Amino acid sequence: MESLAPANSPSAYRELGIAPVVNACGIYTEWGGSVMSPTVRTAATEANATWASITDLLDRSGEAIAEMLGVEAVRVVPGASAGLALSVSACMTGHDGRLMEQLPNTSEVPRDQLLMQVGHRYIYTRCALMSGAALTEVGDSTGTSEEAFRAALTQDVACVLHPAHLDAQNGTLSLDRVVELAHDAGIPVVVDAAYMSFPTDLLAQFARAGADATCFSAKYFWGPNAGGFVYGRKDLIATIAELDFTCFESGPHQIFGRAFKMDRSAIVATVLALREWLAMDHDSRWAGYQRRAIRLADSLADGLPVSVDVGFLTLDERLVSDPVNSVFVRPSPGSGHSATSLQAALAEGTPTVRTVTVGDTLVLCLETVGEHEDEVLTRRLQDVLRAEE
Ligand SMILES: *Cc1c(COP(=O)(O)O)cnc(C)c1O
Repeated sequence: MESLAPANSPSAYRELGIAPVVNACGIYTEWGGSVMSPTVRTAATEANATWASITDLLDRSGEAIAEMLGVEAVRVVPGASAGLALSVSACMTGHDGRLMEQLPNTSEVPRDQLLMQVGHRYIYTRCALMSGAALTEVGDSTGTSEEAFRAALTQDVACVLHPAHLDAQNGTLSLDRVVELAHDAGIPVVVDAAYMSFPTDLLAQFARAGADATCFSAKYFWGPNAGGFVYGRKDLIATIAELDFTCFESGPHQIFGRAFKMDRSAIVATVLALREWLAMDHDSRWAGYQRRAIRLADSLADGLPVSVDVGFLTLDERLVSDPVNSVFVRPSPGSGHSATSLQAALAEGTPTVRTVTVGDTLVLCLETVGEHEDEVLTRRLQDVLRAEE
């Protein structure tokens, strides 16, 4: 993809003494998320040069995304993590501005528990709890029974948080069941669908499943690293709009959402990146990764002390066979190399190449490598493999 990192270091990086990174990890916030396309970048720059009402911009942007996805209502937010904090907050406060202002203090909030299944333990719960909600867990590491879940849906529960990528794993109740049981008890369900943007028909499925609020991260559709959106019931999305950073200075309530601020450029880029993502020829995108992965694998096959394979590094860091986005490099026994020693050697050289290790496998994910960077990536790999031979 031509849109990826420029071959020469940006002048601002040079000035700050920052080395450009060849990112063979994939989409990770610590390497900057993703790269916006030239058209999205231009639109973002233009938006930055022209003032607008942020309230209007967010309202229209939400409407535009709602129309693209065929969902009820949308609010653009600075990432899925902020989306989780705001969604859980909205479930606690409703439209009560006084309660909104008190968060994360929930002493006057009638329902302040966030319910999750034990089998769904994951790091982003932390972001949902920024709202001030207290975590209540149900089930155990082997699963959750319907009886236990029903009993846990008490008067104190503000909402259930359901991470979509863990759906039905570890014996947990599926989203469909969770929605049914929670709604029977009059309790909303918040879904973390941060990376459920491919295949693109996944995007709207959580609305169809009955989720009340669903959070997405723009980093997974080539939007800004600090972009994302929440879709859901109109009323809940309207509450999120009251809780977010807008109208902090001009409105009656000083709400913690002020700390989740967005720039005009990030709002515009989130909408446009999603539009491009929906229109993109994803078959040819994946075919490109496969073609390049095979070429890179072939260049390592010759006389180097590794076995090389191509495959798919999933977003939760599992290695499966397809679709191909990566090269898997496994150092031969007795070669003196290990996946982590290769990773360190690649990181230390120039340009620095960042990679992922999964067990004994060094993974080079090409989704975030510019095609023009393939050559330097190949050369650095060959160099580190030839060293200490
Ligand atoms: C990246 C990620 C998030 C956080 O999204 P941001 O947009 O970076 O805040 C939340 N949940 C999952 C599963 C993620 O992968």
